[in-house]
Parts: sequence; C-alpha cells; structure tokens
Amino acid sequence: MTAPTHATATFPHRHLLGIEGLTAEQISLILDVADGYVEQNKKPNKKTAILSGLTQVNLFFENSTRTRTSFELAGIRLGADVINMSADGSSVKKGETLIDTAMTLNAMHLDALVVRHNASGAVKLLADKVNCSVINAGDGNHEHPTQALLDALAIRRRLGRLEGLVVAICGDILHSRVARSNIHLLNAMGAHVRVVAPPTLLPSQIDRLGCEVHHTMKSGLKDADVVMMLRLQNERMSGQYVPSTREYFYFYGLDYEKLEVAKPHAVIMHPGPMNRGVEIDSEVADDLKRSMILDQVELGVAVRMAVLDLLTRGRRGNAE
Ligand code: ASP
Repeated sequence: MTAPTHATATFPHRHLLGIEGLTAEQISLILDVADGYVEQNKKPNKKTAILSGLTQVNLFFENSTRTRTSFELAGIRLGADVINMSADGSSVKKGETLIDTAMTLNAMHLDALVVRHNASGAVKLLADKVNCSVINAGDGNHEHPTQALLDALAIRRRLGRLEGLVVAICGDILHSRVARSNIHLLNAMGAHVRVVAPPTLLPSQIDRLGCEVHHTMKSGLKDADVVMMLRLQNERMSGQYVPSTREYFYFYGLDYEKLEVAKPHAVIMHPGPMNRGVEIDSEVADDLKRSMILDQVELGVAVRMAVLDLLTRGRRGNAE
C-alpha cells in the first residue's frame, strides 16, 4: 500500500524542528497527506509498509502521554521499527551529554529520531550532529510543531479553512511552545491570531510575532471562531505568576459565560494535559458539540504519520 495522497510530492526539509520558516504550501502539503492518513486510521487494517525496514527512535527527556504514544503509533502504522527511550532509563542519568547520546544513536543508523527536551534549542543542536531526520516533539518553551499541525488539521476539517479565521490562544503564553508554533502556523495560513493572558504570562514583544494582545477574555474571545486554551506550565515557572488558581479561573478560565461573546459556532481546543477548573471548566471541555479536544488526539496520529512519511521520502525514494 502507498501513502494515500500526494504519494510522490517531495518535502524540501530533512528535519521538522519548528513551524517558523515553513511556507503555507509546505504546511498544506503536510495537512493534505495527513487527511489521507485520517481515513486510513479508521480502517480495521491501519498498517502500511511504507517505512518498512526503517528505524525510528523516540527520545523523550520530558514526560509525555499523547505525543509519545502518538509518534509510536504513527511509526508502527507506517511499518517502521520503533524504539522508545526515556532519559530515565538511558545513560543521560549517568551524565552522558546530549551530543554524546545523539552520536551514539547515530552510529546505529537510525532513519528518524523524535526528540522532546526541556531546553529550547536542544533538538536543533542534536539535529546538526546526526544523519537521520529529526522531529521536534517539543523543546522547552520554543516550538512543538506537530501539535500546531494537528491543531490546524482539526480546525480545517471542522471549519473548512484556516484563512480569515479569528483564533484566540488563551492562558500561559509565556511558557508555551504550543502557542509559539500555533502563532507561526496560523499567521502563515492567513488566520487572525489573538493571545489572551494576564501581562505576567505574556512574553515581552509578543506582538512582534504577529498577533493581537488582549488581557481580558471578553475582548479576546469577541467573535472568535476558535478558542484554544493552554495549561499553566507550573514546571517551567520560577516564582508566582498568578495570585491563585481560583482567581485565575475566575478571570481566565473558560466557561460558558465567557464563551458567549465568541461566534456561535466557535470550537474549543486544548493540547492537553488539561487542568480542569483551572484553565477550563469541565462542562465546556466535555461538550462534544464544541470541544475538539479528542479530535486533536485522534488527528495527532495522522499528522505524525504524514510528517514521518514526508521526511523520509528522500531516503526511501518515491518509488513505493
Ligand atoms: N502537551 C503540550 C506540550 O508538551 C502542552 C502542555 O504540556 O501543556 O507542550
């Protein structure tokens, strides 16, 4: 079996380190290929052999539920041999540097290396040292490109387009790689991006990334088509950024009352993990008509299949 659509299209990059720098055409190509995999993933037989014989290693230096499982499933469904490594069970605990770990893995002739690391820029550093394709599965507060791609796919499938939509990204923008990747992607695709957060949770000069800045949910959500909620990333905070989670929910937590000013068809998104009652009310999160949170998880597998497929085409040739 071959990739469902765009089977011979080529992607001009060896790695996927971020969304910044990708063109609208390149983003659309990934989404189009992913659309094909969404359909394939609904079939009883979800497997193809297009990555047969190729080796994929998932190297996670930070915790993950969705992303790691999703990359693992993606590789398996494409027929690759997939190995999971976490920092806990590796020689990183014995003091091995990131570069030494990369060089060691490189010597084993990998084809794809999926990396999550708590330091911004670490994945790029590693990509410069290895021969295989490297995919950034989240580096510090820098980028999380496959999250933004799956978010875009979810929006495109539900609302039919990205161009011209008003997307409000709300919450802890300061520490969020998801926000950064989404801002780059949505701008490239012609959406209008707003960020909504208290000043303490916004990076300085955020407007330079090309988004409108709002400090209240009332103005930020007005006529929005998409409301994307983010978690308070306590693990990246040094010190107190909000007075209390209760007060934070009162001003910035998404509930039906705050949602009233958005467009009637507005959809709700969250990359997970969710903190119910902190950034989002449970009823809203579980509202099957408006919440796309589980669609995001489903589409994540298809997007990662598309990325693995496109990045390895060079080494596989386009002949399958
Ligand atoms: N899962 C996302 C990430 O890894 C969002 C989050 O952790 O809040 O960045």
